[in-house]
Amino acid sequence: MSARENLASVLNAIRESCRQAGRPADAVSLVAVTKAWSPEAIRPVLDAGHRLFGENRVQEAQGKWPELKTRFPDIRLHMIGHLQTNKAADAVALFDTIETVDRPRLAAAIAREQARQNRRIDCYVQVNTGEEPQKGGVEPGGTESFVAHCRGLGLSVTGLMCLPPVDQEPAPHFALLANLARVQALPCLSMGMSADYGAAVEQGATHVRIGTAIFGPRTAPRPAAPA
Ligand SMILES: *Cc1c(COP(=O)(O)O)cnc(C)c1O
Repeated sequence: MSARENLASVLNAIRESCRQAGRPADAVSLVAVTKAWSPEAIRPVLDAGHRLFGENRVQEAQGKWPELKTRFPDIRLHMIGHLQTNKAADAVALFDTIETVDRPRLAAAIAREQARQNRRIDCYVQVNTGEEPQKGGVEPGGTESFVAHCRGLGLSVTGLMCLPPVDQEPAPHFALLANLARVQALPCLSMGMSADYGAAVEQGATHVRIGTAIFGPRTAPRPAAPA
């Protein structure tokens, strides 16, 4: 199957999950995750009209998106990977949303860059729902105070994001994140990937981040996805 056909079937599956969950058909936005894929591989998805994309590394994103953005000015880019503080300037310049705000130093760096670049982006706070030591994200219990801290710095915090532990049932993690967003009246909820987006939509995701189900497996060396 081509990336274009895969995109159509993922969009259909999302709509079907919405219907089953009793949510509006347009309640969920698809963030097409293009990490490891070339502009040539991405192009069929752009030609199909898709405009919302996610990348997990600033440098890689800088190598492909500025040029694509000049050709398709309505592209929206989400940063979904761990963000080093020293990359905050580049991230604020390139991305429309940073989904992985998870510590005070990073929040301060983003705030500083927003002021310096006279640019305002959306921020989600990443929550480490599984409290895994090796993973980024604030602890669930610290979410509310960290959101307040970020807002105090001038960040526009509009949502939460999580990456459940790989070896656990994801649904309870999605439910936890949804509950944290609900009590703080945060409208955006980024959760669910290729393997588990149905469960995420059921639990209230507003953004699902999907790479493999659209572009195929990411294997090195990375060929262009079939058109
Ligand atoms: C790579 C990645 C995804 C997409 O994963 P797939 O399994 O390819 O759909 C989603 N979220 C994050 C944070 C990622 O790094």
